[in-house]
Amino acid sequence: MGRFGELRDILDKGRYFKVVCGAGNEDPEEVYCLSLVYTLAGALGIDVSANVDVVRASMRGIDRAYEIAPLLGAEIKTRPFVNVSVGLKGDPHVRKARIIEEHCTNCGICVEQCEQRAIEEAPILVIAHRCIGCGECAEVCEFEAVEFYTNKVYFYDILPKCIESGAENLELHAIIADDEAVMRDWKIVADTLPDQFISMCLDRSQLSDTRLIGRIRQAREIAGDRLIIQADGAPMSGGSDDFNTTLQAMATADVVLKGGIPLKVLLSGGTNSKTGELAKLCGLTVNGISVGTYARKLVREEISSPSFESDMDVIARAMNKAKWLVYENLKHITRD
Ligand code: SF4
Ligand code: SF4
Repeated sequence: MGRFGELRDILDKGRYFKVVCGAGNEDPEEVYCLSLVYTLAGALGIDVSANVDVVRASMRGIDRAYEIAPLLGAEIKTRPFVNVSVGLKGDPHVRKARIIEEHCTNCGICVEQCEQRAIEEAPILVIAHRCIGCGECAEVCEFEAVEFYTNKVYFYDILPKCIESGAENLELHAIIADDEAVMRDWKIVADTLPDQFISMCLDRSQLSDTRLIGRIRQAREIAGDRLIIQADGAPMSGGSDDFNTTLQAMATADVVLKGGIPLKVLLSGGTNSKTGELAKLCGLTVNGISVGTYARKLVREEISSPSFESDMDVIARAMNKAKWLVYENLKHITRD
């Protein structure tokens, strides 16, 4: 069947759970740990940034999961697909925070707020490779001392290297209004990976429902039956585990599905353990669920532990938490 057919089958049955390490997350150590834990937990997608070291770290995490699975009584039925995410300037997934020294009072409030542990104290400084651009630091800063910038990624150069390193899918984060710029980069993505699924991540912040469908129609013309639309609710907002947090993802997916264009749909942006259940309650037939902020937070304690690599009990604890999240979602959307 090949890997394309394998993934198509998984998507058609609603069996796809993707852990999102973060399109802006360039911390190989964290990506390694997340890949290991979520492979053991049964995730079939691992979303990483367009960085060769990060892709390799993810592959190492998956390989390590295969090595230790028998020790943990886990069975890995399908090797997860590593998906590389890239984004256009202006998309929140690919921005990074920077402190404006002249405005910063070194109060330290943002340090506590940053789930990624990406802000150092004395002096206050953002560790760029850990920052995922979530904006939580800016939310709590009363002094407007946080600004954002986009890391320029040269698609032509970096994407083939990521694929050589083991990535199998590509995703374009296109939460901006400029259709022309989006389609230019989408074409590059489609040409770089002609035989596998490619995904476009969209939300409704910049586009009316009509324009959203128009953009998807153009994306379909280029991608054909390889098209996945990742329907984003509120990007990187999945800190809480309730229905309200995941609600916007349903609204976006509903618009996408009503467009009637043949494609695969993933839910994302504010996703958590309630997402699959809410999709079912809303009568949405989706192909998979991508979880970022909540999935990372769930296992943060274990993967930050100094004994993570050597202590099987710590890994087992993380695996069981991750397994619960995967199961809670897929049990509501999987079909035969
Ligand atoms: S919250 Fe604002 S002022 Fe306080 S340390 Fe952070 S950036 Fe500086
Ligand atoms: S709170 Fe979010 S945007 Fe701010 S430094 Fe941390 S990861 Fe980056």
